[in-house]
Amino acid sequence: MDYQYDLFVIGAGSGGVRASRIAASKGFKVGVAEASALGGTCVNIGCVPKKLFVYGSEYSHVADQARGYGWEFTPPTFNWTTLRDNKTKEIERLNGIYKNLLENPGVTIHKGVGKLLDAHTVQVGDDVITSERILIAVGAEPFVPDVVGRELALVSDDMFYLDQLPSSILIVGGGYIAVEFAGICNGLGVTTTLMYRGDKLLRGFDDDVREFATEEFAKSGINVELNSDIAKIEKEGDQKRVTLVDGRTLIVGEVLYATGRKPKTAGLNLEAVGVETTSNGAIVVDNAYRSSIDSIYAVGDVTDKVQLTPVAIKEAMALIGYWFDGIEPSLDYDNIPTAVFCQPPIGTVGLSEQEADKRGFDIDVYQTDFRAMKHTLSGAQERSFMKLIVDRGSDRVLGAHMVGDYAGEIIQGLGIAIKAGATKAHFDSTVGVHPTSAEEFVTFSAASLKKR
Ligand code: NDP
Repeated sequence: MDYQYDLFVIGAGSGGVRASRIAASKGFKVGVAEASALGGTCVNIGCVPKKLFVYGSEYSHVADQARGYGWEFTPPTFNWTTLRDNKTKEIERLNGIYKNLLENPGVTIHKGVGKLLDAHTVQVGDDVITSERILIAVGAEPFVPDVVGRELALVSDDMFYLDQLPSSILIVGGGYIAVEFAGICNGLGVTTTLMYRGDKLLRGFDDDVREFATEEFAKSGINVELNSDIAKIEKEGDQKRVTLVDGRTLIVGEVLYATGRKPKTAGLNLEAVGVETTSNGAIVVDNAYRSSIDSIYAVGDVTDKVQLTPVAIKEAMALIGYWFDGIEPSLDYDNIPTAVFCQPPIGTVGLSEQEADKRGFDIDVYQTDFRAMKHTLSGAQERSFMKLIVDRGSDRVLGAHMVGDYAGEIIQGLGIAIKAGATKAHFDSTVGVHPTSAEEFVTFSAASLKKR
């Protein structure tokens, strides 16, 4: 059977672009369907613009903190339109780079939504396209629970294009997006309430990290409301009146729901074609990212394994290795380093103390918290926290966790050590870089052992 393409990819996000361009550069005839901007969530309404906003909001502390170092500024003012529009210009530049990345090796871009017609056929607009293999990499979209007035709430997508910043915001959720936007909004001068239904933010992270970070958020000016949820949202002039489940009411400028993301599979026609999905709509794949239909594959957030850009990219590369070199994909989903760009940021790799206990390890836990050197003169009350989980039997470091400046940068390096099986003795025999915060990770002594 002659197909138009060797590979047709639905979705030009992190996973889709990587698979398309590498497959094309290795000789496949490749087409990709994308209905909106190239680069997907990460580039357009996720990681990249979010990080730019984090940088933007961090400048709010500069004038205050620099005073202890001898600098005097007149009170600074902030212009939202400048930040938003400069961000958008940068994203448009990246969109152009993604276009080149696809077109240079010969990928054909089809503008529009892809819909499966059968195991080898996709419809994009009026075009009916056939391909030997189809890769679904459409990502995920914000999930908003069914609360009365939910149409009045914003989701993270909206935050990147607001006409103006509200004077106050209520952010619902306790995961990555909620705490990151709480830091951004608070830093940009928005009165910020972070509301979470449970008793500890950031479920899945180490409990000490969760508690420490929450205290730091509160210290930075965020109003953290735990064990709380919204019952209904109504309009109140150009504000929102929010009634909580405990009966209290709040008036806020905006409500942001950051309550998770669900696979964006509606409209793909998966069921009709026989592609199996979970109850959450995620495409079920085997170890080689193959769906229940042999010719159809899926990578990234649409499979709802680990919703992180570098994971989608690794999955795409594993597929390339499989298709071109016959290497069975064997991606290691353990020890994925991750950072939350809240303020202060969190970096983590490997097992939390709770997870290590759950898995039956006999562990030693080393931890410390301190005021970073920079803040001895800046006057900021911010503190940093670091923690190592060590398996007593093998001396292997099972997990490293940090809350504090540069946590994401630091944890990336530790991720390599932990993946390589480093022991506490390896950490101890490593010479510290002085004076840094990171050197605390190589100077933990018995004095830092946590009493458990
Ligand atoms: P998360 O899954 O991280 O967090 C969702 C939060 O919403 C949880 O606190 C959850 O509570 C809460 N929640 C879920 N349902 C409800 C509900 N019905 N009512 C009230 N609260 C609810 O999702 P995010 O949207 O923050 O982010 C999606 C994913 O994107 C992340 O998990 C991460 O993988 C990725 N991401 C990564 C970033 C990074 O690498 N820095 C940045 C942003 C996103 P509970 O815990 O009780 O279930």
